[in-house]
Amino acid sequence: MRRIFLKACILYLLGIFVVISPFSSFVFAEESYGQKRQAMIENHIKGRGIKDRRVLDIMGKIPRHLFVDEHVRDRAYGDHPLPIGEGQTISQPYVVALMTEALQLKPTDRVLEIGTGSGYQAAVLAGIVKEVYTIEIRKSLAAQAEKRLKDLGYTNVKVKYADGYFGWEEFAPFDAIIITASANHIPPPLIRQLKEGGRLILPLGSTVYYQTLTLATKRKGDLDVQQMGAVAFVPMIGESDKKR
Ligand code: SAH
Repeated sequence: MRRIFLKACILYLLGIFVVISPFSSFVFAEESYGQKRQAMIENHIKGRGIKDRRVLDIMGKIPRHLFVDEHVRDRAYGDHPLPIGEGQTISQPYVVALMTEALQLKPTDRVLEIGTGSGYQAAVLAGIVKEVYTIEIRKSLAAQAEKRLKDLGYTNVKVKYADGYFGWEEFAPFDAIIITASANHIPPPLIRQLKEGGRLILPLGSTVYYQTLTLATKRKGDLDVQQMGAVAFVPMIGESDKKR
């Protein structure tokens, strides 16, 4: 009798373990992602000179590991770009922070992004400004990013599958524009869709090797241009590519 009781107890405890174990490993994994995210902020973002409080706060909250393929999740908080499928990459966290800070965003701003990719940069923007419009030329990436952002609860981001070269006329003009693919010139439709006094940032130059991160401010219809250092981005394709 005692033996049966003992067996029942063991089976019962085993049952509890089987139920709790996947849950606890999920909790531990989330905790470890949280720690990695804080280390990323301290070492690669703050540590390399980013000061904008809103950029630091929002990047400290967004689960970047959910924006990359499952097999590279462990590396999501490292100081490097990562593959997101279709030969494309999610930008290195420092570069995301640098470009976002340079735009000097306000909570009331409406921002256009060209090159949705994983949707991570759009999520960072969405945590700071009122509305984000983001365009992706690769259909499957656009669909995945739209679903990801919806699942994560973002209601102020609109994703469009199109060539970003032509911007998004319907919602123009924008307070800021960010192009996250390299181009050898600034697409004229995007200059037209930027507000007076607005800022546009992009990796400008050779689309094969390195580019210069370039910040342009629209003044009296013209662009005031400031260079911010070398970066390496995947190329902008579509119309931009035809005009090399
Ligand atoms: N901002 C992204 C990373 C960008 S990678 C992120 O946070 O994950 C560059 C992206 O630009 C790729 O997904 C690529 O498909 C896209 N792209 C290239 N040319 C484009 C174009 N003409 N219009 C819109 N998107 C383009």
